[in-house]
Amino acid sequence: MNVLLCATCGTRLTEPVRQLDEPPEYPGWDGLPGPDGRRHGPASVPRGTYVVDPLPFGWPFEPVGPDEEYDGVVPGGMWMSDERGFLVSAGPRGTYVLHPDDVLAITPHPESQRLIGCCGPDGRAGVNHLCGCGAEVAIVAADCTSRYETRLVPDAVRVEAGA
Ligand SMILES: [Zn+2]
Repeated sequence: MNVLLCATCGTRLTEPVRQLDEPPEYPGWDGLPGPDGRRHGPASVPRGTYVVDPLPFGWPFEPVGPDEEYDGVVPGGMWMSDERGFLVSAGPRGTYVLHPDDVLAITPHPESQRLIGCCGPDGRAGVNHLCGCGAEVAIVAADCTSRYETRLVPDAVRVEAGA
């Protein structure tokens, strides 16, 4: 089991968690409120585990380059569009994907536009939670349109093995 720490101040940010080799298959969701009364999908990973996502996640979103062929596979699985056309995620790669209940000691980002979502933050606006020391450490996704997960940003945390 490992724990993840804030790289800036050393605060422990997770319960003891075990790294999975691959992300579990994501279960479908009926869109109904869960037992806690909140509308979010099932968690991306079970309690007590985490997985490293090699693909870019969330903000910023950038246009697909003119020389890049778009083959229908969306890099990172996240995309959006605006007046520039079709955009794909150029966000952080290698984020640590955790069950939200395994992540401790984070507080919402003071820039409320980062927390935009329908029933909760959708995680597309970049880092939206801070460590107690103010470091930008986590992307919480808990919307009815998103997965249910908390991602720790690799540049902002370190993994401590053992425990
Ligand atoms: Zn910290």
